[in-house]
Amino acid sequence: MEKLTVLPYKGLGSVISAETISFHHGKHLNAYVTNLNKAVEGTPMADMTVEQLIVKSAAEGLTPVFNNAGQVLNHNCYFEQFKEDAAADAAPGGKLADAIEAEWGSFEAFKAAFNAAGTAIFGSGWVWLQADAEGKLSIGKYSGADNPVAHGLRPILTFDVWEHAYYLDYQNRRPDYLAALWQIIDWKVVEARY
Ligand code: MN
Repeated sequence: MEKLTVLPYKGLGSVISAETISFHHGKHLNAYVTNLNKAVEGTPMADMTVEQLIVKSAAEGLTPVFNNAGQVLNHNCYFEQFKEDAAADAAPGGKLADAIEAEWGSFEAFKAAFNAAGTAIFGSGWVWLQADAEGKLSIGKYSGADNPVAHGLRPILTFDVWEHAYYLDYQNRRPDYLAALWQIIDWKVVEARY
């Protein structure tokens, strides 16, 4: 049984308003958690982890389970990686920083590629930094609820590009929203996923 994590409904600096968080977490994510629990209740899937549910539902074409389990994992990764007082110029450290540099040459080049990928997603979806079993990084563009877990990859960092994530604060300006999110990344949380 999934539970909605408690999140204080205050804003994240000037980047995400309290109003957006109250709808995005309190209404949208809450609905995904509720619908996932309803979909698996009374079945052997009720005891599975969200990751297991994603893999199983992807393999077996269980679309309602896949969509809700995917959205629960995606949103948990999204909300857990933010912190209000993160330094605006913060950058990753440790082996994640080394792997980013190895793949894109610099953190700045990686950010530009990530923002461009998020901007290019048509309609609702997610842009991810993901790692394979060897730790090789790549940027993934996913539609709907799809995510790296469904493709055997490890989720590291994600920006939600569904309109509900940014429309109240940025209207149609998705590139501005993507550019602003870097100011609130808690890199300690992201580094721990790698
Ligand atoms: Mn969302």
